[in-house]
Amino acid sequence: MNPEYSMNTNLLHSKRDIQGMTLQPETFPLFATAAFSQRNLSDVKRAYNEKQFTYVRTRNPNRKVLSEAISLLEAGEDTFVSSSGMGAIFSTIFALTDAGSHVLCNRDIYGETYEIMTEILPRFHVEVEMISFADCAEVASHMKPNTKIVYTEVASNPCIQLTDIPELAKLAHKNGAYLVVDNTFTSPINIQPLAFGADISINSLTKFLNGHSDALGGSATGTAELIAKVTAVGKLSGVPITPYDSWLIFRGLQTAALRIEKQTDNAVKLAAALKANPHVEAVCHPSLPDSPQNALSQKLFGNKGGTAMLSFIVPEDSAKIDAFMEKLTLARYAMTLGGLRTTLSHPCTSSHHALPDAERRALGITPGMFRVSVGLETAEDLISDFNNALTVFD
Ligand code: PLP
Repeated sequence: MNPEYSMNTNLLHSKRDIQGMTLQPETFPLFATAAFSQRNLSDVKRAYNEKQFTYVRTRNPNRKVLSEAISLLEAGEDTFVSSSGMGAIFSTIFALTDAGSHVLCNRDIYGETYEIMTEILPRFHVEVEMISFADCAEVASHMKPNTKIVYTEVASNPCIQLTDIPELAKLAHKNGAYLVVDNTFTSPINIQPLAFGADISINSLTKFLNGHSDALGGSATGTAELIAKVTAVGKLSGVPITPYDSWLIFRGLQTAALRIEKQTDNAVKLAAALKANPHVEAVCHPSLPDSPQNALSQKLFGNKGGTAMLSFIVPEDSAKIDAFMEKLTLARYAMTLGGLRTTLSHPCTSSHHALPDAERRALGITPGMFRVSVGLETAEDLISDFNNALTVFD
């Protein structure tokens, strides 16, 4: 890492030495092997002692190079890279809690994280409280002596509600707890949560950081000490990422800054256009001048738009909603986000389908809500596509 260069330049030119290899391939090669063989027992012992590459689930070059790149982007000491975002979330929570621990979790989070919190952890006698993180004083009032984790997303899924990471970090640390943050919607291109005091920053690499919708992965970044604990759980639960997915995601990372900056900029423009459309009842994006989160957005992202994700609400008329989706020519429904092309999702039928309607509505998720992952199309094309499709509500 050369402090005179930007993060992006450092990422493109990061050291990629491969143990024992004198060739200098211009791109990092794929090591499609399950193990690295050794010549004799002295080599075997050395390999273990020096933590060299032995068996790929334990360590391998493709995972190592990806882990180092993510540590660079997140400005952390070390990164555990898993086979999916859920693998990183699961390994982190299990590494940092014991039976009898208490976890305080933002209730406005990804549906499957919600399920880990409410369905899996209680079976292991970990007490979880799901509350709104909109008010830090409210969060403080729920802290307990046995609180081990304060958990949130930087920008929540699907309501794009920001949380005050620096305040939550102070609060967690005052009580001896860790602040664990999911950075998937924002990405380290828009914010480095560790610099704001978070202890672990998680990403679903499946999304913006890979960016090409062709691989699954997840990461957890923090101090070497914390990540050693996460890696130990992750390795034993069998979730480390494969060499091939590491290789694809490492390739995607090289253009992450270029893509995510443009996607975020497109999201700012699309949010403003949707806000001006009379058929749209509400738009959630922190860049909107009248957003109650505008000041917090400035604090976390400065003048960057913050996220390429937005959500908006149309009237709850299912026939017209279908017609709207069919009339869109660019944005397509897809059960993922962060790809090159703009995609839509409908939280009531996808990520939050398991929640009862009343609970969803309490979170602000109605049947008229769409979540948009804004892609790399030309902003004006996207805006005219959405405005044209919204005429079905005339
Ligand atoms: N975190 C957030 C905010 C997500 O939206 C998702 C998936 O959509 C995940 C975590 C889980 O990621 P993965 O599907 O890679 O396991």
